Amino acid sequence: MKEAPKYLKRRKRMVAEQLEGRRIVNQRVLDAFLAVPRQLFVNSEDQSKAYHDQPLRIAAGQTISQPYIVALMTQLLNLQGEEKVLEVGTGSGYQTALLAHLAGEVHSIELHLELVKQAKATLSSLGLENVRVYEGDGSHGLPDEAPFDAILAAAAAPRVPQPLLDQLTNGGRLILPVGDAQQQVLQRWVRYGDKFNFEDVVPVAFVPLRGEQGWSKEGWEDSRDT
Ligand code: SAM
Repeated sequence: MKEAPKYLKRRKRMVAEQLEGRRIVNQRVLDAFLAVPRQLFVNSEDQSKAYHDQPLRIAAGQTISQPYIVALMTQLLNLQGEEKVLEVGTGSGYQTALLAHLAGEVHSIELHLELVKQAKATLSSLGLENVRVYEGDGSHGLPDEAPFDAILAAAAAPRVPQPLLDQLTNGGRLILPVGDAQQQVLQRWVRYGDKFNFEDVVPVAFVPLRGEQGWSKEGWEDSRDT
């Protein structure tokens, strides 16, 4: 991929200041961030902001998350390179591309067809071949492809969806935001046989997870008012 030199410069600065500067220490994660051109995943009018320390609007009223949060979630998955990964909420496909650099196989599911089409086009322009993007409700996972060594959901669920836990391998990790329109926390779940351990990591602010295991429009709006 050819890109203007200014983007590589900005990417290096983003990695040094926003990620290394905030205790993102996993070298494979940092290398993946250096390899993926974030400017390709944002709206064309936002390209100059692609490396800013903030989330940005993308199509279908959704967002591409702040780079640091993407890095933190990715680091928490502790990927070694061979894993089969499920991502719920493809959005722009930026995190999908990072996961493709870090794992063996990535399955990513997105509710909005418009985003699915855009993400597929961007990911294939980068020659990433270990990724499959699906249109649909990922709140109950992707049973046909389960089990997964790692699952990452990039939208806030009202509570951890049991189907996602059930689709983890033994030792598998699930990272997701849980909460409502006012308050959310990033959770890390790990499966040990029939048991699941979890920890709260940091407060976050994500768009709602929709679908069967997610928020209804009314439920999300009500949580804003209470
Ligand atoms: N990580 C993405 C990126 O790098 O661009 C950003 C993801 S965005 C914060 C969350 C995405 O989850 C949105 O695109 C939204 O449409 C999607 N989403 C919400 N509920 C979903 C569901 N039940 N199944 C699949 N995708 C869902």
